[in-house]
Amino acid sequence: MPLDVIEAPSPNFDARSSPPDMILLHYTGMPTGLAALERLRDPAAKVSAHYLVEEDGRIFRLVAETRRAWHAGVSWWRSETDINARSIGLEIVNPGHEHGYRAFPQAQIDALIALIVDIRSRWEIADARILGHSDVAPGRKQDPGELFPWKRLAAYGHGLWFEPAPAPGPPLKPGDEGLGVYALQAGLHRFGYEPRPSGRYDEETATVVRAFQRHWRPERVDGIADGETRARLVGLLTLAQTEGVTGVLS
Ligand SMILES: [Zn+2]
Repeated sequence: MPLDVIEAPSPNFDARSSPPDMILLHYTGMPTGLAALERLRDPAAKVSAHYLVEEDGRIFRLVAETRRAWHAGVSWWRSETDINARSIGLEIVNPGHEHGYRAFPQAQIDALIALIVDIRSRWEIADARILGHSDVAPGRKQDPGELFPWKRLAAYGHGLWFEPAPAPGPPLKPGDEGLGVYALQAGLHRFGYEPRPSGRYDEETATVVRAFQRHWRPERVDGIADGETRARLVGLLTLAQTEGVTGVLS
């Protein structure tokens, strides 16, 4: 059954240099869906996305998938910085952390999953390349945030998810130094996050751990790498590797 999509063209796009191989999820972070739709279509705002998914499940198409929409901003993932060129951007209506962050309704997530199925029927997109804006810009962005049901999305076959057996162990936290911290940072970097390992658990490390937790350990978004957070990272690294995700690592 073809997807029911409402056309709402935005002028805010340019040409792609390569086919998309990533899906990037956002929340709109504005008081209403209509306000977000207007902004994403305003030539002066110079921002857009390929689709916007309303809380009631309506899907709006703003930019053709073959074009480069402007949604990621300054970003980094696995040494790539032009995330807009590589991704399809989906805006999910939610007021966000600034305007009353709330649960994503069932109808919205059902529509989002149908949309992702549709997109993946056209383009080669690995599970490890279904990411949140906060993954590619952890210092600037929190969306779609810890209320987004990444686990449910993965249960439907989209994105990576890993839950280890209970993994106790002393937490690594800001101020810590040493090989354990270095290994954690190296793992985060190998998985895709920008900062390179230093062996010092500084503010940047805490920010990246928080971004990782927002996506893969949403019960605990505190920037402290407890045993469970570290075990999930190790499991996800294995899954990403098994999936054969390649990319330039440096
Ligand atoms: Zn965003």
